[in-house]
Formats: sequence, structure tokens, C-alpha cells
Amino acid sequence: MKIICIGRNYKLHAEELGHQVPTEPLFFLKPDSSVLTRKHAFYLPDWTDDVQYEVELVIKISKLGKGIQKKFASRYYSMVGLGIDFTARDVQSELKEKGHPWEKSKGFDGAAVVSHEFIPLNDLGGDIQKIKFELKKNEEVVQSGDSSDMIFSVDDLIVYLSNYMTLKTGDLIFTGTPSGVGPIKKGDLLTGTLEGNHMFDVRVR
Ligand code: ZN
Repeated sequence: MKIICIGRNYKLHAEELGHQVPTEPLFFLKPDSSVLTRKHAFYLPDWTDDVQYEVELVIKISKLGKGIQKKFASRYYSMVGLGIDFTARDVQSELKEKGHPWEKSKGFDGAAVVSHEFIPLNDLGGDIQKIKFELKKNEEVVQSGDSSDMIFSVDDLIVYLSNYMTLKTGDLIFTGTPSGVGPIKKGDLLTGTLEGNHMFDVRVR
């Protein structure tokens, strides 16, 4: 299983990090070892002082595909989950400055929160570009997303990604984060909801 993450897929988030809005999708991978084990707290690593949350809609690939055409893209997923792309922002900034890959800052153990449950798209209204989701930190809403604000639609992402790498059953696509990313500290509680459905609680240790 691989996890493909899309960067800068929401205009306001690209701007809050000081980037231009991209003209083609930007992606990177997280290893399967980065998935936070269910029921485990997230432990802040000792080599960073600035881990930030990024809540994202997660699409589960339901069949093998390569070079997928747009008109068929929606046949490759039917389940939607929610995740957090934890990012060691200080380390990422250093790597970016040097022009190095980001993996150290985004692929470490625990850096991928994936909801245990995935909800059938049909139960969410059937339109992948009309889904609202939210992240709360200690009961306060810090990120509020709507997939209609994506720069590249899920189908466009599937077409684009499958042109470079074969998508396999069970692969996950983190579709990018809306604005509002921010830091976490010991003791914080992060709660994710997808169209009102409670998806995860993550305690920071
Ligand atoms: Zn992200």
C-alpha cells in the first residue's frame, strides 16, 4: 500500500504558506510505516520543534489502474476517509530551502493519521467535489474544508497520478489541505469530522 499526498490543492492554503497557486498537481509519498496505529497517541518526535496538522480528505483506490482516462476516473474509488498529514514544518522548510526531498518531514512514524472508517461516497451524497470536513483542536474548529474548493478535482488527480505510477487497490490519496494549518503541542486533542461523521480523535503526547 502506498500513500500519495497532494500538496497545495487549496488556493488559500497555498497562499498561507507563501506559494503560488500551482498549475499542475504536486505530489509526494508517505510510506505505509507512517500510518498512526489506531488507538495510539501521536508522540511528538524529538528532532522537530514544529509539528503541524493538515486535515485532508482521503480517497481509497478500489481497483488497479494505470493511464486512467478522466471519464473512467470515478470508477477507481468509492470510499472516502479523513486523515491528517502531520508535517514537521521546521524540517520541511530547511529541506525545501536546500531543494531536497521532503520525506523526512512528512514520512516519519505516525505522520499519517488515517480514519479507521471509510464512508461510501454514495452515503455522502455521491459527489466527491461536494464534501465538507473539519478539524478541531481542543474543541475549537481550526480547519474547515470543502472539496468544492480543490484546485484539482479528485478525478483530475487520478488521471494525473496514474500517468506516472500504477494505482493499486488499497492505495490512499491524501487530497491536500485547506487553510488553517497550525502547530500542535503535548496534550492537544485533534478531532476530525466528515460531513458531520466523527472520524478520529488523536491525542498528542
Ligand atoms: Zn498535506
